[in-house]
Amino acid sequence: MKKSTKKPTRIPKMYCNLFGHDYQVSKKVTYHVKEYTCSHCKKQLTTNSNGKLIELTPTFKEINIILERIYNTRMERSKDKRFVSSIY
Ligand SMILES: [Zn+2]
Repeated sequence: MKKSTKKPTRIPKMYCNLFGHDYQVSKKVTYHVKEYTCSHCKKQLTTNSNGKLIELTPTFKEINIILERIYNTRMERSKDKRFVSSIY
């Protein structure tokens, strides 16, 4: 007979295993891409280019920072365009 002698140190994770993660938006990167953090185990997710949720790795964090920059620049430009087209 095997005895499971797991220490009860990972209660938040166990909670998530039982009830599922409670992800909350921790950062809005672009209109489509957001970063989520689980309020129980602090696991982080992000939206990838296909719109699927994936684990937020340091690589994706960097990608998101770049995406955010591009997104903000685009937003600024589109504002300019709208401004220009409303003149002509
Ligand atoms: Zn969780």
